[in-house]
Amino acid sequence: MAEYLFTPGPVTTSPEVLLAGARPMMSHRGPRFSALLRRLQNRLRDLLDVDGPVLLLPGSGTGALELLSMNLVTPEDRVLSLSCGVFGERFREIVARRGATMAAVDVEPGRAVTVEGLRRALAEHPETTVLLLTHNETSTAVTNDIGALVASLPEEGRPLVLVDAVSSLGAMACHPQRWAVDGLASASQKGLVTPPGLALAWLSPRAWERASAVASPSYFFDAGLHRRFLEKEEPENPYTPPVSLLFSLDEALARMVEEGFVRRFASRRRFASALVAGASALGLVPFVADERARSAGVTALVVPGNRAVELQRALRGLAVEVAGGQKDMKGLLVRVAHYGDEGWPELALVLGALYGAMREVGLACGSAFVERAFEAWEERV
Ligand code: PMP
Repeated sequence: MAEYLFTPGPVTTSPEVLLAGARPMMSHRGPRFSALLRRLQNRLRDLLDVDGPVLLLPGSGTGALELLSMNLVTPEDRVLSLSCGVFGERFREIVARRGATMAAVDVEPGRAVTVEGLRRALAEHPETTVLLLTHNETSTAVTNDIGALVASLPEEGRPLVLVDAVSSLGAMACHPQRWAVDGLASASQKGLVTPPGLALAWLSPRAWERASAVASPSYFFDAGLHRRFLEKEEPENPYTPPVSLLFSLDEALARMVEEGFVRRFASRRRFASALVAGASALGLVPFVADERARSAGVTALVVPGNRAVELQRALRGLAVEVAGGQKDMKGLLVRVAHYGDEGWPELALVLGALYGAMREVGLACGSAFVERAFEAWEERV
């Protein structure tokens, strides 16, 4: 039976993108590969609306966060981390390993960081040199308004702002340069709709200055090393890159360019809104109360009676794979992701499956026309 994937990475990837990864290998030292890297650089710069190199290396989102940490944080730093959930905590843990002094503020699950909250945290920790933020917190399906948060920072003694954009890039506008972010980390397997295995990072001019002063203790994650190789006349990677994944990413970006980035972001938002409307009618309300803070890539739905684990299992029985809640929210949430090309058929599919699964686990739910269909289906067995 086919499996319909609605998890927040890996995501359903088009056959064109998958087949691009099956192209014959090419040497990663040569003009053809350099041309591929140049094209990827141009497209990623357009997507991010940035100047400067976009680093691409084997790894995942965690690797990209590690790269920021290795190149931009030292034991002398005073780091302030504002976390909205599991991945905010992950970033914090990664950076703490550099031996920096850490200050942690946890936002209530389901809520975004507010300008007032950030001001308060900074007032309590005025010595902050590095600020950690998450653009889209996948565990709660909350999107932070990074532009507004960074714009609220004082000019004088402004900390270096590092942002986890692992689950935002490609699905929503993400403009680190315009927003005055200093370091951005992302990955291939969510909004870029490519298989997992690529880490991606961008640094501001201020961050590059810092990186050259810090000198990464890691060779693999040395940002300066990656940049030197990318800036050669014939761009290349310092070590063997995942060539097939770069083929796939190239294809995925070509499709996004064809669709138009702004249209794509709008289509993800539209799916999210329609899903929330349909799921709410079934009795599954969105976890994020503030509509403006709801993610365009993943939607967290509250399952009545803490029955999320059962509901997820029942969905799996219907060949629909969604994510459950993480940590304390395990029984509370199911998370339905829509980073790919999901449209009307997938909306009908996932709502129908949610209905069927709710019915199976005995959760009261409404929706007359779907109910009729299920009753007829059951009569036939
Ligand atoms: N940050 C966020 C916001 C994420 O959603 C994820 C993956 N779910 C990560 C970091 C970690 O990325 P990866 O699993 O690719 O290492």
